[in-house]
Formats: sequence, C-alpha cells, structure tokens
Amino acid sequence: MTEFERNIGQDGTGFDRVLGFTLPDRNARGRGVRLGPVLSEILAPHAYPPPIRDLLAEALVLAALMGGLLKRAGGQLTLQVQAPGAAAELLVCDYLDGALRGYIKHDPGALAALPADPTLADLFGEGALTVTFDLAETGQRYQGVVPLEGPSLTAAVERYFARSEQIPTLLRTAVRADGPGPVAAGLLIQHLAEGEEGGERLHVRLDHPEWEHVAVLAGTVRAEELTDRLLPLEALVWRLFNEEREIRAEPGAVLSRGCRCSVERFEQVLARFPKEDRRDMRNAEGVIVVDCAFCAREFPIQD
Ligand SMILES: [Zn+2]
Repeated sequence: MTEFERNIGQDGTGFDRVLGFTLPDRNARGRGVRLGPVLSEILAPHAYPPPIRDLLAEALVLAALMGGLLKRAGGQLTLQVQAPGAAAELLVCDYLDGALRGYIKHDPGALAALPADPTLADLFGEGALTVTFDLAETGQRYQGVVPLEGPSLTAAVERYFARSEQIPTLLRTAVRADGPGPVAAGLLIQHLAEGEEGGERLHVRLDHPEWEHVAVLAGTVRAEELTDRLLPLEALVWRLFNEEREIRAEPGAVLSRGCRCSVERFEQVLARFPKEDRRDMRNAEGVIVVDCAFCAREFPIQD
C-alpha cells in the first residue's frame, strides 16, 4: 500500500479543502476541490435564482482550484467576468490563503426572459474573462483576458490556460443542488513539461505523449463522482490514476468563506470621496449605508 492509498479518507470526504497531488512520472500536477458547507455559507445571503447560483458555485470551485496552485501565503487569485448589459453582468470570485468569496450581479428581469436552462452565452452575451494571479513570492501580477467562449465557464478557463498561460490544462467541474446542501466540485490537471513550474514556453504541446495519457485518464471523471458526498477526493484521484507508479499527495489549504469588509475599510474608501459627494450619499438620518456585494451585508457609516 502506498502512502497515498493509506491517506485515503483520513479526513472525511474532503469537503472544503484543496487536495494537491502530482504524478511525478508524467510531470503532471493536480488539484481537487469539493465545496460543501463553505458553499452554503457564501450562497446563503443572496437568494440567487438556480442558474446564477449554479454558475457562482462553479466559479468558486474554479477559483479554489486555481488559488490552490499558489505557492506562498498572501498570494491571491481573482476570477472575473465582465459583460455589461447582459443578464449576468458581473461575476467576481477571489481566493486568498484559502478564503473564498464571490458574487454575481445579475438583472432579474433579463434573466426571467431567458430559457429555464440558459447557456453561458445567454447569461453573459459577449463577456470577457479575466484571470489574475498575484504572487506573494515576487509581488508580481499575472493577468490574462480572454473572450468568454465555450459551453461553460470551466471550458472558458481551460482555454485561458492554453492561450494565456501556455500550460496544457484539463478542468472538470460539477454542481449539484439537491440533497442536504449544495455540493460543487472540480478537478484540475496540468502538464509541466520537463518538470518546470511557471517557466517560459514557446508553444503549448497538447500532443505530448505524457500529457495525452494523463488527459485521457482525467477526462474519464464523471460529474456524479466529483459531487459524490461519500467518495473521498483522494479515492477519486486514486480511481483515475491507480495504474501510475506513483501519486504524490501535497497538503492543501483549508477553505473558508472570507470577506474583507469592515466598517474601517469602508470608512477608508469613503474618505477618498470629496465632501460634497459624501453629503449626497447620506440618507435621511445622515448616515451613509454601504453594502458589501460579496456578503450582502449593510454597513452604516457615520460621516
Ligand atoms: Zn463582505
């Protein structure tokens, strides 16, 4: 029995943490995420209609998978879709040291006019996807913007990796809202040629035999497996790659709902506005009420 096998199921079914693993013989690295209680917490204040709820759940999984690639504490991953005038006009999710937050600004009227099961294009029209990695180790920011294309947000992010990062990447996500609470889960696998991490590359080699092998195996993962509450993520990874000589597990971050809103923070933001503008923002009681889009909480700020 390998160490990876021994660890299967050691800490439950792996809700709300990042599972990191590598396939050393294939120069591949992976991340697995299954959101449960944290997802419920993030969704709770919003009462989103089902298509928006499921889209945000998918986006949060993607943010956790990509955030899970950050090496140092203090690094941040931000996923954003901007689609002015669309039924879903803005999606923002970010990850900072395991803390996840996200929201979608949508137009209920425009959404009601869409089919019950809207496509990505129905929701966002011609949106743009922005992925930003802020690295703590160098203080550098890597940002890529690609058109939001494809059948899903997951497919669009996969395309982002091929185009902007030049890293062969396979992404699968699944969301289920039935049962005791929503579950959203995903798997990310990348090929790091010659084992290098983040090095320059002239072109993406999607036909590298190592990568073809890994992508075929990873591609067999089913949505029901990803969201199966009783199947530990380690067991799922083992199921996919058990014929490999070695699967190496890496401890990943524990995920939480994180918001950085506070009275002090909003006071600082408001202080940057001219006095006249602040006067216009006051309500009848002379208080400026600021609401946090991420957690839908209101903060009365005395000006
Ligand atoms: Zn907040």
